[in-house]
Amino acid sequence: MLQKVEGIVIRKVDYGETNVIMTLFTREKGKIGVMARGAKKPKSRLSSVAQLFTYGHFVYQQGRGLGTLNQGEIIDSFRGIKEDLFRTAYCAYMIEFLDKVTEEQKPQPYLFEHLWQSLHQMDEGADPEVITFIFEMKMLQQAGIGPQVDHCANCGRTEGDFSFSIREGGLLCERCSALDPNRIPLSQPAARLLRLFYHFDLNRLGNISLKKQTKDQIRFILSTYIDENSGMVFKSKKFLNQLNKFE
Ligand SMILES: [Zn+2]
Repeated sequence: MLQKVEGIVIRKVDYGETNVIMTLFTREKGKIGVMARGAKKPKSRLSSVAQLFTYGHFVYQQGRGLGTLNQGEIIDSFRGIKEDLFRTAYCAYMIEFLDKVTEEQKPQPYLFEHLWQSLHQMDEGADPEVITFIFEMKMLQQAGIGPQVDHCANCGRTEGDFSFSIREGGLLCERCSALDPNRIPLSQPAARLLRLFYHFDLNRLGNISLKKQTKDQIRFILSTYIDENSGMVFKSKKFLNQLNKFE
C-alpha cells in the first residue's frame, strides 16, 4: 500500500553499493524505516532527500517489513544547521536521543512537532544549548524518567531554596538537603529555568537568553542526570563534548 507522510530523516545507513536505509520520524506514523533504492548514486532523485535532518513529504510502499521509498519532496533541508559544525553536532545528539526513546510505528504528533520546532529554531540561529536543554527534558519525560523539578523530590515542599539531587531524582529543599551529601548547589534562576524547560515548549522559550553561569549549572545537572539515570550512551554526545572543548 502506498503511504504518504510528513517526516524528518533521523538516521541513515548505507546498504549495499547503492542503497540507503533511512529512519524517518513522521507526524502520521511515528518512527518508520524505509529503503531508498539507488539513493547513494549522485544522480538518483532520492539522493537529496536521503540526507540527515531533511524535512519533507515522503511517499513509500509499505511491505511486510521495511517500506520502499518511492518519492521524496524536500520542505526544508535546514541549511543553517548543515553549514555549522556546532549546530550539526547538537542536532545529531537530539535525533540520537529521540531515536533511543521512541518505538517504531507509534504515532506521536506532539513529539514530531517538538522535533520540527527544535530543528527550525536551530536553523534560525537560536541558542543551541537552550534548544538542547528543552529537548533533553522532553526526551527524559518520554523515557519516563523526567526529573522532579516542581517541588522537593523528598517532602514535596515548593517554597524556599533548592539544591539538585541526582540520586533523589530532582530538587531537594533545605530541610531535606542532608539526604544527599552529593547534591548539586543550584541558583534560584537555574531552578526556575529547569521548571520552565520541563513544562514549556520552544514556542514560548526559544529566544530566552541565559547567563553563562546559569547555563553551566543546567548543563552540568542535565548531563549528570542523564548519565546516571538513563543508562543510555550517546555517540553524538562524545563528539559534541569534544567540539565544545575547543570553543
Ligand atoms: Zn524537602
